[in-house]
Amino acid sequence: MTPDIFPLVAGNWKMNGERDKLDQLALMAQGVDEELADNVDVVVCPPSTLLYVATTLSEDTGLQVGAQDCHNEASGAHTGDISAEMIKDCLADYCIVGHSERRVDHGESDFHVAGKAQACWRAELTAIICIGETEAEYDAGKAEDVLSRQIAMSVPEGATEDDTIIAYEPVWAIGTGKTPSPDDVKAIHAFIREELAQKFGGHGERMRILYGGSVKPANAAELLSVENVDGALVGGASLKAEDFLAICDVYRKL
Ligand code: PEP
Repeated sequence: MTPDIFPLVAGNWKMNGERDKLDQLALMAQGVDEELADNVDVVVCPPSTLLYVATTLSEDTGLQVGAQDCHNEASGAHTGDISAEMIKDCLADYCIVGHSERRVDHGESDFHVAGKAQACWRAELTAIICIGETEAEYDAGKAEDVLSRQIAMSVPEGATEDDTIIAYEPVWAIGTGKTPSPDDVKAIHAFIREELAQKFGGHGERMRILYGGSVKPANAAELLSVENVDGALVGGASLKAEDFLAICDVYRKL
């Protein structure tokens, strides 16, 4: 946690979830009561096929909705892509960009990611920009260099705490059950905070920095209480309302 920064927990369903998973989303919407919403922003990012129905189901509840990716342009000849404007039209408020699975599977560079973040701002979506080193980069002692480059190149000039959230996700911790130790998380989040403050001044000091990578109910309290960890980006454990809400519930006590 960082004093005076309101935390956020986002669930990334990835390419999981047909209509029969909407009961989980409805349970999440029920679970985000006033007390929880007063302590943490709770966001679910289903596949784009469920986006509009998700915002409809969560209307007038504390649950907020985001998308998992967007194109950098508003419209045009880009078969299979969706724009930030389309996401906004579905009444969502957030969009993840630069997830390592997009960077790897679709060859997205820092330049692409920055363009997508700007598209989010254009459509008045909050961009959740993912950064993180691979296992090989971690083993080679290059994590800080990679993060520094990603912050310099993927997070556009002019980012503020109102339109941008950073998600630090060590690629080797995503979906593997492995997590860095709380001391390692503390050190790397302090480094990210410093880089953000250098680049964005006071905005960087106030920007939310999420931790992502194998967060589950059993380790959430330990990870979320680390300094400069202002929430979590949760993959696998966000598919079940019970697990996702158990992670969010940590903020009732922190
Ligand atoms: C993710 O995909 O952003 C993620 C953190 O996944 P998991 O929680 O399953 O490691």
